[in-house]
Amino acid sequence: MSHLLAPTLKLSNGVEIPQLGLGTWPMNDAESAPVVAAALEMGYRHIDTAENYQNETGVGQGVRASGVPREQVFVTTKFNRQWHSIAGVQQACEASLRRLGLDYIDLLLVHWPNPEQGRYVEAFEGLLQVQARGLVRAVGTSNFKPAHLAQLFERGLCPQVNQIQLDPYHARPDLVDIHQAKGIVTETWGPVGRGSQMLADPAICAVAERVGRTPAQVVLRWHTQQGFLPIPKSSNPQRLAENLACFDFELSDAEIRRLAALSRPDPNAPDADVFGH
Ligand code: NDP
Repeated sequence: MSHLLAPTLKLSNGVEIPQLGLGTWPMNDAESAPVVAAALEMGYRHIDTAENYQNETGVGQGVRASGVPREQVFVTTKFNRQWHSIAGVQQACEASLRRLGLDYIDLLLVHWPNPEQGRYVEAFEGLLQVQARGLVRAVGTSNFKPAHLAQLFERGLCPQVNQIQLDPYHARPDLVDIHQAKGIVTETWGPVGRGSQMLADPAICAVAERVGRTPAQVVLRWHTQQGFLPIPKSSNPQRLAENLACFDFELSDAEIRRLAALSRPDPNAPDADVFGH
């Protein structure tokens, strides 16, 4: 069967990562297993989960049920603040492997920096150890702000990926510039606006009209044309297919800039200096 597949990006250590993934929050085990299997069957090759979503077991079941060979699927997971130590990350990694039913993880992330706990550098050092043991192929951070990344850089450390909230309403050029300078892939959560009114924005709808695509496809193309890696969540088969089919048209540079200009302050966006788990 021929599939529509997302292109891949190359991480700084040479590992290839599909440029669009399936988000799985807030699906539970029972919901995520069939959705993950259906997504893989239609051509998704990258699944995003986390210890905190409590669905790693379902995600692993979905991967196996899909029949897609393990080596063709890229699985990302993340661990919580209680594991921010060298030994803690080993335990967290082994526990995720057990729940997923896998013998390696493609990408393991520090889920939130939790700066008041002050142990995210240790957590990152723990990641390097599980990577050296061959349990994970790539390592990274999530929700790290410039000051948190700076703490890693000062010690000669650098994530391969930083997964952050980013969409046309949250453009975050400060982080994107740092990622580009350091060769960090910008993975984007909440990429299609988290069920908000963003997809009804007249500026986005006008571009959708011009290219003959849906607003979600335009927004996902806005991410990928800038080199970002969006991980939209859907549990609806039609929207799953719609989201994957976003690589075969082009936005103009002016359109990309126009959508980025929609960015505005959002007091409800979680701030990684005060929120985390
Ligand atoms: P998304 O921007 O992916 O939005 C998901 C919502 O949009 C769902 O309600 C979905 O509904 C709807 N939707 C999806 N596709 C379409 C479409 N084509 N048209 C219209 N509506 C659509 O936000 P998320 O918060 O889910 O983020 C994505 C993923 O990022 C999460 O699932 C999770 O894996 C990860 N994440 C990571 C975080 C972190 O701290 N690192 C924090 C939050 C999320 P439906 O299912 O009915 O299609």
